[in-house]
Amino acid sequence: MTADLLETPLDELLARACEVRDAMWGRRVTYSPKVFIPLTQLCRDRCHYCTFAKAPARLEAPFLSPEQVLEIARAGARAGCHEALFTLGERPEDRYPAAGRWLNEQGYASTVEYLAAMCALVRDETGLLPHANAGALYPAELARLRVVSASQGMMLESLNPDLACHAGSPDKTPARRLATLEAAGGQSIPFTTGILCGIGESRADRLVALEAIAAAHDRHGHVQEVIVQNFLPKPGTAMHGAPPCPPEEHLWSLAVARLLLPPDVHVQGPPNLSEDFARLLDAGIDDWGGVSPVTPDHVNPERPWPALDLLREVTEARGFSLAPRLALYPEFAAAPQRWLDPAMATPVLVRSDAEGLGREPGDGWFSGADVAPPSLLPSPARAGGRVGEVLAGVLLGQEAGVDELTSLFGARGPEVAAVAQVADELRRETVGDVVTWVANRNINYTNICTFKCRFCAFSKGPLSLNLRGDPYLLEFDEIARRVAEAEAQGATEVCLQGGIHPSFDGDYYLDVIRAVRAASPGIHIHGFTALEVTEGARRLGEPLDRYLRRLMDAGLRTLPGTAAEILDDEVRRDLCPDKINTEEWLEAHRTAHGVGLRSNITIMFGSIESPVHWARHLVRTRELQKETGGFTEFVPLPFVHMAAPIYLQGKARRGPTFREALLMHAVARIAYHRWVPNIQASWVKMGAAGARQVLLAGANDLGGTLIDENISRAAGASHGQRMTEDAFRSIVEPIGRRLEQRTTLYGRVAAAA
Ligand code: SF4
Repeated sequence: MTADLLETPLDELLARACEVRDAMWGRRVTYSPKVFIPLTQLCRDRCHYCTFAKAPARLEAPFLSPEQVLEIARAGARAGCHEALFTLGERPEDRYPAAGRWLNEQGYASTVEYLAAMCALVRDETGLLPHANAGALYPAELARLRVVSASQGMMLESLNPDLACHAGSPDKTPARRLATLEAAGGQSIPFTTGILCGIGESRADRLVALEAIAAAHDRHGHVQEVIVQNFLPKPGTAMHGAPPCPPEEHLWSLAVARLLLPPDVHVQGPPNLSEDFARLLDAGIDDWGGVSPVTPDHVNPERPWPALDLLREVTEARGFSLAPRLALYPEFAAAPQRWLDPAMATPVLVRSDAEGLGREPGDGWFSGADVAPPSLLPSPARAGGRVGEVLAGVLLGQEAGVDELTSLFGARGPEVAAVAQVADELRRETVGDVVTWVANRNINYTNICTFKCRFCAFSKGPLSLNLRGDPYLLEFDEIARRVAEAEAQGATEVCLQGGIHPSFDGDYYLDVIRAVRAASPGIHIHGFTALEVTEGARRLGEPLDRYLRRLMDAGLRTLPGTAAEILDDEVRRDLCPDKINTEEWLEAHRTAHGVGLRSNITIMFGSIESPVHWARHLVRTRELQKETGGFTEFVPLPFVHMAAPIYLQGKARRGPTFREALLMHAVARIAYHRWVPNIQASWVKMGAAGARQVLLAGANDLGGTLIDENISRAAGASHGQRMTEDAFRSIVEPIGRRLEQRTTLYGRVAAAA
């Protein structure tokens, strides 16, 4: 293999490298929004190319103080960074007495000990994920840093022991570097390493280094990325007169790295060290490395990064999408038990999106929070790669399956607008330009519940934590009063849902319906989740179809699709372990449709699941719709994290990003095309500004006025209790759509029964 690589013409290598990259990572290129923290610029090594290391006399203090560290980190956190990259010289205390004295005065025995303390400080005070780049370390040092960092790194640089540039650098011996790489693997540390090109080594030397990295990765699976860095001479260094690594040589090295390393190792090319950095994409890279909106690259301070906008422009112009990542890659974030100390699992989760990448910097939106969403639509649409392929198939009339829908959920940048555009066309074709709403009231008759759904901030039961409000059970008179009040205010529907009270039997639900009917003979009763009716029937020992018929005879008209959460048992096991499973939810709706009750589909997304689970949810419900035709609409419910027990326990993400929430509506429109005509935007969770963008992405309904919406507010949502027709109009009219009031079953309001 290596001999072959040495002989192969560059163009062929580049083409082969791109093929490998595209097959493994598609057309997505990542970067890490990071802040650099140069903890100490003292170093016991004397690498001839280095401007980072300084003599003590040239520094104000041997180390940054904790206050200085925090100041840099806080600026990074404010600018939307995810990673705090600690860069530092190696063991300065072994060379400079001033460094040892400073550490002793502060109560630290070594640089690594101080580094560990600063990583913990930054993690705890700012939430940034530390990446410790501390050079050649011993196993105990790596272990100490693993507790306080999301990943670690050390450039292998070169395994040629005779390089003049490393004379006088005891930490640059091949044995020290290889031992560190190996020990990191043994401790399951997500590890960044790399090679330097142009410091006097040969092409064959580079292949040797890459082969050693590949072998370590084969043994431990821990090499997350390999940086292939080109040498540039710097003034004031011993190598200031040496020639820079020629661009073609750099491209060659990147391509052979891509070909020689296992395909699951990411290959990074730093954009700030090349004049024409777009070309690095032609050599098979899939990562740009750290891009800092705040601090200079302390290792290459004379080479500022391209601004993020330029990086995005260049990346997208080559047909790639750009995605922010964390200090560790998604494959590692997805297996925290293996790759992370327990103390790091929650900080990683909190910054993750559903793919295990970083939440978009600048997107401070959270479901239910009073924060303006980023403006994703309208915007220029373009989709290449897999997203483009899937959209082309959809436009040809093909039905998207789980794989295709999962790919659409991965859309970024102009791809998001492309998915939304297709969804918008399908929406227009299916339901035209009208946006509907329904006048309704929610009546949550009890918040007492025997179930243990880990996301539920509403219930008072076995898992109640703080939580808002007291346990209650409404009297039938109060239910009737609320119904009459709602009807007097123009409501055409009451939506009845509540906890599963330990004392309920199935007759309770019948009594609720009777109380509603007594208060209003005509109002549409939309009530009882699949869980409630399944439990009701079970507690009476009655077959579900017979029980549903009795509810219907009493006045029940439709079932809400809640209690679906994520229809995938892999997720339900952790999210709502004692609730009905996927098949039971589907069976309840199948039975309801069979007796003539229509219902809707919901999805609660953005807590612990990933896009493939969303796709399975869509496909499973679509299959049932093909069988029964009983679903009226799809209602995406983004997870509101603020008071949810699973979030407060550090086991869930902070809800979907706005991009994910928008895509949920768009991808659902595509998935359900020809089967489910209506896609609802929940203003309670999305907010008015979010709902407006979602209406440009396939949605055609704004749901209900929802007087009394207790469940989202219990979870921390700040969007109001009630929407008015005028407020709905102010969402819809600026985008040139027409608002119409509907009944629960999508008749126009005059036909309300
Ligand atoms: S989601 Fe429903 S079933 Fe689950 S705990 Fe909350 S109220 Fe009970």
